[in-house]
Amino acid sequence: MVTTETKSFQNYIGGEWMDAASGETFESTSPADGETIGVFPKSGADDVDRAVEAAKSAFEEWRLVPAPKRGEILFQLARVLEREKAALTDLMTHEMGKVKAEAGGDVQEAIDITYYMAGEGRRLYGQTTPSELRDKWNMSVRQPIGVVGAITPWNFPIAIPSWKMIPALVCGNTVVLKPARDTPLLAERFVELMAEAGIPAGVVNIVHGGGGSVGDRLVRHPDVRVITLTGSRETGVEVLKAAADNLKHVHLELGGKNAVIVMDDADVDLAVEGILWSAFGTSGQRCTAASRVIAHEAVYDALQSKLVAAAERLRLGPGWEDDTDVGPVINKAAIEKIHSYTEIGRDEGARILTGGEVATEGDLAKGFFYRPTIFGDVDPQMRVAQEEIFGPATALIKVRDFDEAIRVSNGIKYGLSSSIFTRDVNKAFRAMRDLEAGITYVNAGTIGAEVHLPFGGTKDTGNGHREAGQAALDVFTEWKSIYVDYSGRLQKAQIDAAE
Ligand code: NAD
Repeated sequence: MVTTETKSFQNYIGGEWMDAASGETFESTSPADGETIGVFPKSGADDVDRAVEAAKSAFEEWRLVPAPKRGEILFQLARVLEREKAALTDLMTHEMGKVKAEAGGDVQEAIDITYYMAGEGRRLYGQTTPSELRDKWNMSVRQPIGVVGAITPWNFPIAIPSWKMIPALVCGNTVVLKPARDTPLLAERFVELMAEAGIPAGVVNIVHGGGGSVGDRLVRHPDVRVITLTGSRETGVEVLKAAADNLKHVHLELGGKNAVIVMDDADVDLAVEGILWSAFGTSGQRCTAASRVIAHEAVYDALQSKLVAAAERLRLGPGWEDDTDVGPVINKAAIEKIHSYTEIGRDEGARILTGGEVATEGDLAKGFFYRPTIFGDVDPQMRVAQEEIFGPATALIKVRDFDEAIRVSNGIKYGLSSSIFTRDVNKAFRAMRDLEAGITYVNAGTIGAEVHLPFGGTKDTGNGHREAGQAALDVFTEWKSIYVDYSGRLQKAQIDAAE
């Protein structure tokens, strides 16, 4: 549905709302029914340059605002977000498509990280240490870095921008946000609420537009010191290369091909629930989605039949309807990509146990709905078991024992989330040690991160950094070591002192 009065939105730069310098625009539409959500500036390099200049100039003051005061503004923001939770949740079901409970969870993540990081304003701990020398004081402190370019995907339209911007701000940096083109209104609302909460002009800026234009300019701009990107592996590689000439700090959170292992001693019904939620929640469009299930041969058949039956009970529909289990996928390109993997799986010899097609009955034809899909008899080397599909599809792989399960789970290029269902404490601990992933769940699916622990992955999922928790502070600060000599004479450190 296209509404007659389509609302137009703007960039927010230096505390002012403005159009793109070119005057060009693009539309955001709902993946559930094609409704036009709004019209946004299709920005270019000029707009980015303006935003970076505003952020650079605001940095000079913001870095000097005492961190506890920055924290107080963020506490206020958390309260504003709580007030707006229901409205943001509803908007998310329309613009991004996820179901109500998950959209509420997305907003809740932002509230949680904002409270958590606001408290950090009174910590931001450094170290004080003894000195090698008499009458000398040693300490290290975290310092803000400068302008942060935050580039975000559409699948967590509020949570991911919050995971990047809130820690950046409490540490004293300023931000230019380039949100995904599929979810600009949610990012826009978030920035509006930041301004309402009292974040000063220029400290947070938003520039809408494409990755190749706005994103790329942000990555190459010499005054942007940190780039934090969540997106696909391919984008991560491009960004890393483009940022190299300016030796930027680059923080990457990329794809996943996460597996749930179900051992012969597992509670199979519990595993089915965990897999269903992890594989088909957010229509499988989570970086932590369970897109592989590695089952011990003793439980494989029972697990398969229960899982297929449960998947077939899931109701597809718009996210805003109370009885919807699975919402749409984000756009036309996504549904085509997902379906191409159904064909690839079939050609490779996997069995399509359920799903494998676009859902078009009734009103579903207005949106991008794909039936929850389960591949059976999958070989771990098949493309459907190796590549990120990013849709409601999961691949069942049969293994003979624990060692093979771990080997198969690790046998991919990504290393984000992992999971094992077992009642054997020895196997659980070995899995916690041996699974090559940034996150391991025991007796739960592959999703469910909490904001006070590090979030991110090993291998091709990233480049060694973590979002959330204390680890996020490392992305947005640099260490300074400070030595104060109060002896009144020149003392040489041990490395320089003659024997
Ligand atoms: P994407 O890589 O297509 O886009 C991500 C962002 O990067 C968008 O804002 C896009 O406009 C921008 N971009 C694209 N090319 C760019 C370039 N050359 N320079 C600068 N910016 C550029 O990803 P997507 O489709 O929006 O999101 C899905 C991907 O994100 C999946 O691979 C998923 O696994 C990953 N993801 C990872 C995490 C995590 O925390 N590890 C979380 C969510 C999503």
